[in-house]
Amino acid sequence: MNVRLRYAPSPTGHLHIGGARTALFNYLFAKHAGGTFILRIEDTDIERNVDRAAEEFAANLRWLGISWDEGAFVGGDYGPYVCTKRLDIYKEYVEKLLAQGLAYRCYCSAEELQQERETQLQTGSMVQYSGSCSHLTEEQRRAFEDEGRTPVIRFRVPSHTVSFNDMIRGTLSFESSSVGGDFVIVKSNGIPAYNFACTVDDHLMQISHVIRGEEHISNTPRQLYIYEAFGWEPPIFGHVSLILGEDGKKLSKRDESIVQFIEQYREMGYLPDALFNFLALLGWSPGGKEEILTKQQLIESFEFDRVSKSGAFFDSVRLAWMNGHYLKEMSAEDLSVLVEPYIRSYVEGKEWFTKEWLIEFTSLFKDKITCLSEIPAIGLMFLVDQVAPDEEAKSSLSLPHVADLLQVFIEQARVVDEWTPDGMKALVKAVQTASNVKGKDLFMPLRAAITGQLHGPDLNRSLVLLGKERVIKRAQTTLAQFIHIE
Ligand code: GLU
Repeated sequence: MNVRLRYAPSPTGHLHIGGARTALFNYLFAKHAGGTFILRIEDTDIERNVDRAAEEFAANLRWLGISWDEGAFVGGDYGPYVCTKRLDIYKEYVEKLLAQGLAYRCYCSAEELQQERETQLQTGSMVQYSGSCSHLTEEQRRAFEDEGRTPVIRFRVPSHTVSFNDMIRGTLSFESSSVGGDFVIVKSNGIPAYNFACTVDDHLMQISHVIRGEEHISNTPRQLYIYEAFGWEPPIFGHVSLILGEDGKKLSKRDESIVQFIEQYREMGYLPDALFNFLALLGWSPGGKEEILTKQQLIESFEFDRVSKSGAFFDSVRLAWMNGHYLKEMSAEDLSVLVEPYIRSYVEGKEWFTKEWLIEFTSLFKDKITCLSEIPAIGLMFLVDQVAPDEEAKSSLSLPHVADLLQVFIEQARVVDEWTPDGMKALVKAVQTASNVKGKDLFMPLRAAITGQLHGPDLNRSLVLLGKERVIKRAQTTLAQFIHIE
């Protein structure tokens, strides 16, 4: 079998973690089987389309490391890959159904349909389209047209059951009554409805497997009836379970306690490889205990029978842990390039800001963060000119020997030529000798004066990173502002 899978987002918003997971499963399935992965933009719901959303989807998929062999923005032999560019194609197939009486024009107005629904609800009968336009005569049709009514086109649903063998759920069967009566395949604006466009596209694009969210199960019988009407072989379907919030309920897009859009993770400084890894394990497991898997390992081990039937919990703590792991694994040099935008507003135009500085800064913090946007806060002491000591630091500075100690430190620091780790070792030693203070009494006040805190990275490395000028200035300011010499 020629394995061809597609991800078919509607460009109505941002790439959601659920959508990204669907894209990823399709991608992994296709790559595992040596097949083709396709991106199709399903923009038939034109009122809901958002400007540039398709471009944004594409950019975020690419950022995540999900590339497509064929489809929107890249082309291919089965294009166009954007539904609204395929209207002529759909038309041809709608005509076929109309000609065979498998579809018909319906002139019912929205008000009439609403009325019909209300009556059905009141009488306790099944809510579905009654089929009042299903057998119109030519004259009746003309009369409606003369009234200025614009028709929709409905698919004539046969009365038999349809079933399919879902890759995750086994055999699923649907009574014809479950689809709500003859359903609309072309809306009154002339644009096909999702179920019709999707079926025609999946067939013409020779899609072999459709992996999508569980919320589409109810669309599948409609699509199967359409396949049947054309005499086409349907693809193999797999409906992936929902993503659940920490409360075990379906993740609502409005739940702000969980960050849900890929763009937001990108802005927060999550690494694409970490998200890729995390999303792959959201409802699928490779079998073993290993949680950190490269893209290549994921492709190799993506056996679809390990996709879970039950909902997958979105564990943001696990994601943060995983991202922290990927951050640690990166070299400081590579990571520094990603760190730079997060600190740009502090370092722009500073004479001490160099590539080497950035790498050293990155290496001091890369093991201590879960995402890059934490960097400015955790590394603030190196980014600003002056630091105000926190309460702990202030109490360390209030010890009686500190004024002399800082004076000695400033004198000794001024004469240091080599502002290097070794130079700092020698400096601290010299201060110790000259002041006769050592151990905690020496290090704590120095750290408090220079960094404003008693905790932080290695003191010598901190001094080097801050540079001679800032170190001396900070010691002087501390002396002047926070130490009361009696
Ligand atoms: N456009 C649909 C969506 O965004 C895709 C449905 C499908 O994969 O068939 O949910």
